[in-house]
Amino acid sequence: MDELIQKISKASGVKVEEVEKRVQEKQDELSGLISKEGAAYIVGRELGVNLIKEGKRELKIKNLVAGLNAVDIKLEILKVFEKRDYEKNGKRGSVLNLLVEDETGKTRLVLWGQDTDLVADSQLTEGDVIKVNRATVKKNNFGEVELGLGKGGSIEKVGRSEGFKKSAKTGLDLHTRVDIADIRDGYFEIRGCIVQVFKRTPFFFVCPKCDGKLDGKICGKDGEVEPKKQLIISAVVDDGTGTIRTVFFRELAQKIVGKTDSENPEEIYGKIKLGQEYVIKGKVKKSNFSGELEMVANFVDDVDPKKEAEKILSELETTN
Ligand SMILES: [Zn+2]
Repeated sequence: MDELIQKISKASGVKVEEVEKRVQEKQDELSGLISKEGAAYIVGRELGVNLIKEGKRELKIKNLVAGLNAVDIKLEILKVFEKRDYEKNGKRGSVLNLLVEDETGKTRLVLWGQDTDLVADSQLTEGDVIKVNRATVKKNNFGEVELGLGKGGSIEKVGRSEGFKKSAKTGLDLHTRVDIADIRDGYFEIRGCIVQVFKRTPFFFVCPKCDGKLDGKICGKDGEVEPKKQLIISAVVDDGTGTIRTVFFRELAQKIVGKTDSENPEEIYGKIKLGQEYVIKGKVKKSNFSGELEMVANFVDDVDPKKEAEKILSELETTN
């Protein structure tokens, strides 16, 4: 790290203390979303110092900042998404996304046009470790940093999963907005209305000490406890293209129900506004019970018209 600062100082003629100060300011400005090293790269770039010598420097995901070019990076493939063809202004194109990670975080590698063939040609699949050469880094329209392939870039399969530690603290949102009709296993965001509620019971019980599952009044860790009541709402969400059963737990269920102290299930269900539109993020998988796809929500909010407009604009740009 100090070496990096020295390098920037030497190449730019700016004093070490001043570079350090700028790095700190850059980190503060980005509210701690970036490592010190990452901030140093930006500051270096601002001072006209190119710290990334072509093909020399291997970066980690946490250090990626928009604007970097010719990055070499080693990644593990978590998921290969389907190739999507599109047509815009009479021109055809295709795009293919890979969800990738290393020990410092997760991101997307987005391939366009002929580069999408690299996946089939090299038979890239989940769990493959790849080395990407001459990658580019840009911010996508949702403000997330993602990788692309630069001119002359390549992807090389170098092995199988090394079991990178899953990093929860990446600050990345990997929920892609989809139409419910196109939904499949994975993490997605949908925008739809609650059209039906399953009225079984709006409560489930957990251990008050560890929030864990209970067998009656018995917690496997804490012994006999007084069960704590939590809210659960299971509902059908419809976005006009399809429907999906969605489960909301705790605060998320609270958000759907609104403020209430009621213990009466009917009263609680009665507070849910059918037809109310929400943006919901969550994990989608096939229910063991029904065999149908089901979403477990991990985020829910009212529809923000401003954000929605930005999303639509950005979608138009991505298919450019
Ligand atoms: Zn417990």
